[in-house]
Amino acid sequence: MSYEIAPREERPTVQTDHHETMHMPELATLGMKLHGPVIGIESSCDETACAVLDTHGSILAEAVLSQQADHAPFGGVVPEIAARAHLAHLPALVRQVITEAGVDFASLAGVAASCGPGLIGGLIVGAGVGKGIALAHRLPFVAVNHLEAHALTARLPGLVQGGAPFPYLLLLLSGGHCQCVAVEGVGRYRRLGGTIDDAVGEAFDKVGKLLGLPWPGGPALERLAAGGDPARQPFPRPLLGRAGCDFSFSGLKTAVAQRMAKSQPLAEQDRADIAAGFQAAVADVLADRAAHALAMMPAARLLVVAGGVAANAAVRAALADAAAQGGVPMVAPPVRLCTDNAVMVAWAGIERLRLGLHDPLDTAPRPRWPLAELMPA
Ligand code: ADP
Ligand code: MG
Repeated sequence: MSYEIAPREERPTVQTDHHETMHMPELATLGMKLHGPVIGIESSCDETACAVLDTHGSILAEAVLSQQADHAPFGGVVPEIAARAHLAHLPALVRQVITEAGVDFASLAGVAASCGPGLIGGLIVGAGVGKGIALAHRLPFVAVNHLEAHALTARLPGLVQGGAPFPYLLLLLSGGHCQCVAVEGVGRYRRLGGTIDDAVGEAFDKVGKLLGLPWPGGPALERLAAGGDPARQPFPRPLLGRAGCDFSFSGLKTAVAQRMAKSQPLAEQDRADIAAGFQAAVADVLADRAAHALAMMPAARLLVVAGGVAANAAVRAALADAAAQGGVPMVAPPVRLCTDNAVMVAWAGIERLRLGLHDPLDTAPRPRWPLAELMPA
């Protein structure tokens, strides 16, 4: 069954269907102007988030509720708890941002919600709320690919003067994703490489657990590493110098576990040195892989980093060096826009609506949804 809604007559919305969506280059020349703000909804993992952006992409209101405290006792995200928490909090969060933005639903130009990849329970909640708003107020609905939202964040107004130009290299470094992507346009992505085992954030979280740090381990590990000396606990650099830009982190995690087992009992300084040694190994590997990816994409005009691990200062510094050596500027959005948020979802919605792209209301949320599947035929 399809619930495709005819746009109101006065709205300059181009009707598209999936076939037209496949011809992005033609649509890209349309450059449609939006007639109102766009609301974005994010619920793919453990952040419940909502944001309203105006027609230019300036943030009118945003809110993020982290579920970290709900999941921390279990040492990781529990999908069922996540879905219930999204359900409990999202409706109130939507009302809050709408009020703060000083808009009403009827004045919106569209609704954008993360529809994958991610945890299916949360995706169903966010997509359902988004579709409900779209249905009730006869608005176009954009089923946003969460990875595309990360990929396009750098194009938010104000981050890069004049807007980040295509094409650029995206390094997505989060708890669930770790990949190098050539971003050639809206909907146009080429995966150049990615992790063959753990995501980099997952490696931080697992090593954090080994070190007895609270979940998620990344931020706590960075704080512990600040008091350590990386040279005292050197670790292997998996795939360093290897052709291509794939990553591997599970061997590094095992190396940390073995080192810790051998060095018992661990003094506080040893723990800090291990954290610093691990972090330095990760930063080196990421910089090396980024350099390779830049070499694989000579047309890249920027190196953009996104995902929670991009919050790490050592990682940022190493990647900035790699970008400088590759002759391109590095763009790292502010940390709150690097981790999961709804500003990026609303922005991805704006980018798509401007091209006349939106989705039918029977679009199903997808736990797996590789970026490459957004490519025009
Ligand atoms: P996900 O979509 O997987 O939830 P996020 O973009 O929300 O990913 O980022 C969360 C991940 O980022 C976690 O694995 C966390 O440990 C990691 N992270 C956050 N801050 C830091 C930091 N300062 N250093 C290293 N890793 C970090
Ligand atoms: Mg998260």
